[in-house]
Amino acid sequence: MKEPDDTPSYEETDADRRRGILGDNALSLNLVSALAGDRPLTETEKHHLCELKKSRGLKFFSDLLYSITYQHFPPEVAEDLWDEVLRHKYELSTALGRNVRIVVAALDHLSNITDNMGSATLVGEAHIKELVGLSLRDGLTGLFNHTYFYQQIDFEVRRYVRYGALVSLVLIDIDDFKVVNDTYGHREGDRILAAMGRILMYVARDSDICCRYGGEEFAVILPFTDIHEAGTIANRLKMELAEPLPGGQTVTVSIGVASCGKTTKTHQELVEKADAALYQAKRSGKNCVLVAVDEEGGRIYTKG
Ligand code: GH3
Ligand code: MG
Ligand code: MG
Repeated sequence: MKEPDDTPSYEETDADRRRGILGDNALSLNLVSALAGDRPLTETEKHHLCELKKSRGLKFFSDLLYSITYQHFPPEVAEDLWDEVLRHKYELSTALGRNVRIVVAALDHLSNITDNMGSATLVGEAHIKELVGLSLRDGLTGLFNHTYFYQQIDFEVRRYVRYGALVSLVLIDIDDFKVVNDTYGHREGDRILAAMGRILMYVARDSDICCRYGGEEFAVILPFTDIHEAGTIANRLKMELAEPLPGGQTVTVSIGVASCGKTTKTHQELVEKADAALYQAKRSGKNCVLVAVDEEGGRIYTKG
């Protein structure tokens, strides 16, 4: 692991926050509501909130407001804003003679009084998760889409640069897919792509992030995976994808594999490395896995 001192600071991005919405450890609206006094907090919840406050510092207040509004308020203003919303909740509750929940108070305060939210809309919490989830998926294959791929690979590479957490990338391109389309028709080509997406999801581990990278290209991000293990996984994917599909057709894939190395600073560098390996896989006859390895004398490609 690297020393944090000699690495760039870790800036939180919108992608991190979006991940927060979907993650298991996110501050749920239910918990924030309890913190604001809508229901009693359990001892475990009190402890959890205490730990979060300690670890997040002023960002904790940005997190609270984010759970309610899905909007980022900078930490410098979030604490005051949270206090104002709490005060507003108290005043509304007193005036109406019943508890006004934190969400309602926040909506009134942030949209009618401080104009922080612009025009707001009413969407149930479960529905928000569904919408965010859908916006990150590719409609044809059900895999994560290009946008999510770039969010995640950026997150993983920054985590590598900061903490030295390994990450590998597998890029998969179907061989001669133009011929597949010409042979079976474009609609059947779509069905083949969808079937391959399902195989990919089935074969990959739970922690792997399977994406549709482009038309007939897939990308799998392998967190906490070194280059050797990534090569093994890529070979397994190649073999499984070459099995006859439900419609009876058989296709092959070429695969490029790369890992973050000593000199890797950005996700673009990792993608470029995997892409170069994929290019070499195509050049060396397709239907194979090539692994990019950076050595003293330059980059070499080995058959995985
Ligand atoms: P190579 O082995 O060099 O990768 O050859 P290829 O034919 O797979 O690659 P090429 O880049 O020449 O063509 C890609 C083909 O994939 C052509 C394009 O119509 C097809 N394709 C891309 N997206 C889709 C899609 O969503 N559905 C279908 N059916 N075909 C698609
Ligand atoms: Mg292609
Ligand atoms: Mg292709």
